[in-house]
Amino acid sequence: MSHAPTSIDPTKPSIARVYDAFLNGSDNYEVDREVVRGVRKAAPEAADLAVENRAFLIRVCRFLAARSGITQYLDCGSGLPTAENTHQVVRRVHPEARVVYVDNDPLVLAHSRALLEGDPTAVFVAEDIFEPERLLANELVRSHLDWSRPIALLHMGTLHHYNGEDARTRKDIVRAYVDALPSGSYVALSHFLDPEDEFSATARKMEEMFLHSMMGSGTFSTRAELEDLFNGLPMVAPGLVRCADWQPDAPHTEPLNAARRCIAGGVAHKP
Ligand code: SAM
Repeated sequence: MSHAPTSIDPTKPSIARVYDAFLNGSDNYEVDREVVRGVRKAAPEAADLAVENRAFLIRVCRFLAARSGITQYLDCGSGLPTAENTHQVVRRVHPEARVVYVDNDPLVLAHSRALLEGDPTAVFVAEDIFEPERLLANELVRSHLDWSRPIALLHMGTLHHYNGEDARTRKDIVRAYVDALPSGSYVALSHFLDPEDEFSATARKMEEMFLHSMMGSGTFSTRAELEDLFNGLPMVAPGLVRCADWQPDAPHTEPLNAARRCIAGGVAHKP
């Protein structure tokens, strides 16, 4: 049985549709674009948060497939399909790669199922990514991946939308996944960053706009808080950095704007 809302509510913004609006996609409503306009008041270039996050995800998938030989992916909070989805990136290296996408947004579910129709190696599961035990017990999650071989866990742009910190911390949630992963697996995370420098005020303004919007989530965390989320696992070089600085395809030709400085990510390895 799935664990996600089944009907789309166009009167309330959704995380997936707001992200799609930031990326200039067409799967969003006026309420979603309203959130984007609000955050842009805090930082006009705020869309770069999403652009950098997505580019990071693609580079990480390329790295995991090409350099680490990973052929199994658990993509938590996969979002609305865009041009370069995880299975498409990793299959260029490993045509046989197996991917499980997980999200709880009904529009994501509809589009993902349509995209993956008839595809035997990539599947979509509707579950709550902040309930790892339940997700990890899901029949399709268990059977589609071989849990005796390394798996890449992707939690990209997701944990900053977790609002239940009082009951269970983000670190605890990541740990539950890490404990279940076989040895040799990888954990890739990206998250809004408070850079604790002259761009900190912009980060906190964007946070305020996200949190006080009808979407109601989007926490910016410090570098130390984000490092903690990896639960002490050894990091792949260059460690936890701004997404833009993680194994970039080319050197930056101009200084990073505020938004590009406010999203960080890293990849860790489970020995
Ligand atoms: N991971 C993709 C990326 O990096 O391009 C999409 C990131 S998008 C900002 C966050 C995604 O997480 C959305 O699609 C949203 O629906 C999903 N999400 C948020 N909370 C969730 C939850 N509790 N359970 C499942 N999915 C969730």
